[in-house]
Amino acid sequence: MVSTKPVIFVVEPFGGSIRWHNPSLPLIYWDDYAVTRGDGIFESILIRDGQAANIERHAQRFRTSAEALGLPEPIIESWISATNAAIEEFGDGEGKCTWTYSRGRASTGLPTAWVAIQPIADDVLAQRDNGVRVMLSERGWSFPSELPAKTLNYAATMATLRLARDRGFDDVIFTDPYEGHVLEGATSTVVTVKGDKLRTPYDDTILPGTTQAALFEYAESQGYRCKQKVLDVDYLLDADSVWLVSSIRVAARVRRLGEHKLKAPDNEQEIRSLIDTAMSAN
Ligand code: PLP
Repeated sequence: MVSTKPVIFVVEPFGGSIRWHNPSLPLIYWDDYAVTRGDGIFESILIRDGQAANIERHAQRFRTSAEALGLPEPIIESWISATNAAIEEFGDGEGKCTWTYSRGRASTGLPTAWVAIQPIADDVLAQRDNGVRVMLSERGWSFPSELPAKTLNYAATMATLRLARDRGFDDVIFTDPYEGHVLEGATSTVVTVKGDKLRTPYDDTILPGTTQAALFEYAESQGYRCKQKVLDVDYLLDADSVWLVSSIRVAARVRRLGEHKLKAPDNEQEIRSLIDTAMSAN
């Protein structure tokens, strides 16, 4: 059985018990910094075959994000046991697991922390098969590059995504406003395929992706040559295929980039299953 309801477990940020939470009841208070400032961190983790995929990389990035924001070091064992308890209740089938760790209430100074698992949205599943039409957009903001963190602050990204959808696109690839080189998707990492070469953009404002890291490790073992490089938009237009990779959607092929149609390559299925297997292998 696959649960259609979200499953939530509250995590004690300084260790101790985890607690089931009724998803129909509120969980955070009006003065929580997650709400008033977007001040907190999160991870989105794919649940597949009763397992949290790529969990080591997610846990590592979660620690790095907490450190960047000066949050108390997360007790990963608590987060993992909350995740396992939630998986048990969620049942079989794919799910989206979110770890959220907020600076917490202004009035108490205590962080707020919880794990949730919910079914993956139908439009996300459809994009795995159908690919995405992508709008290019300059990004003039970034988190300090010496403090890489996956923060809750996505308002500007979400506004850009809405703009893209209004214009008939499904997603966004951000570019550097000064040099024009390619950065990342709204919630994904860009990967190109050209022959046996896999490339992902280099820039110190890009969030290091766990899916891209798992893909590159696995693809290297399968004979692909993988590298991070500064890439411009022309490089994308010239590639055999361009992909947006991320934990929940896993892989969506870019089939339109701005006004350019990107033809499906002969090896589309091979690349899709390469990325899919990389996720399951971790
Ligand atoms: N880049 C950004 C800005 C993201 O928000 C995400 C995921 O949400 C990614 C990249 C992909 O990261 P991951 O593969 O770890 O899901």
